[in-house]
Amino acid sequence: MPDTVPPSANPVIPCMFCGQPEHVEIFEVWGHEWMFETCCEGLHEQLAIEMAEDPEWAKRFLRTLDLEVLCGCKLRRVADDGACGVILDWALEIREIDRDCAKRFIVQHHAHCRVPVTWRFHTGIYNGRTLLGAALVGNPVAPALNGRGILEVNRLCIRRDTAAALRWNAASMLYGWCAREAARRGWRKIITYTRADEPGTSLRAAGWKMESRVRGRGWHSARRARSNTNSWIDKIRWARDLVPTASASRAPLPARSDDRSIPSGELLELSTARWMG
Ligand SMILES: [Zn+2]
Repeated sequence: MPDTVPPSANPVIPCMFCGQPEHVEIFEVWGHEWMFETCCEGLHEQLAIEMAEDPEWAKRFLRTLDLEVLCGCKLRRVADDGACGVILDWALEIREIDRDCAKRFIVQHHAHCRVPVTWRFHTGIYNGRTLLGAALVGNPVAPALNGRGILEVNRLCIRRDTAAALRWNAASMLYGWCAREAARRGWRKIITYTRADEPGTSLRAAGWKMESRVRGRGWHSARRARSNTNSWIDKIRWARDLVPTASASRAPLPARSDDRSIPSGELLELSTARWMG
């Protein structure tokens, strides 16, 4: 694998292909793709092959061409685009998005759920300038879990229409952020659900624990109309206990007067029963 000083670092070296002073520069970057210019086609082809063969070297090489300075983003990796090419995989960043943007994102990209009517807070995650995912956190959907200092990640959605490499670790980072933000706001626990046929890898990576399995029953009841999309599939409930951080600006909501201290097994039955109406 090439481990030489990148050509641009020493412009007086003659190019091994054309004999002219070696010349390489970034010509254009759009999103995750880029074009570079060289003194000749021979060097261009050689560099393209070397970058594809050794992504670590490619990352160092692109840095020496001031790619990060030009784009204002930190490069995470030069990654395989899944179609024999290489793409720029920028460092993921959690960034605020506005409510309408979050809504639009869920409508466009969530595979099996609609946008909730309401929620408490949300965020987005970016790969460079690409909005890659969004998470919405609100009250637990199961009425029995309300009023107990618990929040729920109601929606977490990572877009699937980008190269898989760009999404690496994005869901875990979002779950991690949701838990930290809930703790910062003074909540004592956060939960979420995945379909039983989803592996929950991102949740495990973010330190969440599997709590229970909930039979798919449909969330529509005579008392409360709910979307029945996706409702017949069994779900796994995941949870993470939180230690409210020192900067917690508000105390969790006090328990409702009708809340009893119920063991979690019974709680599950109760919440399922409520969903069934
Ligand atoms: Zn040349």
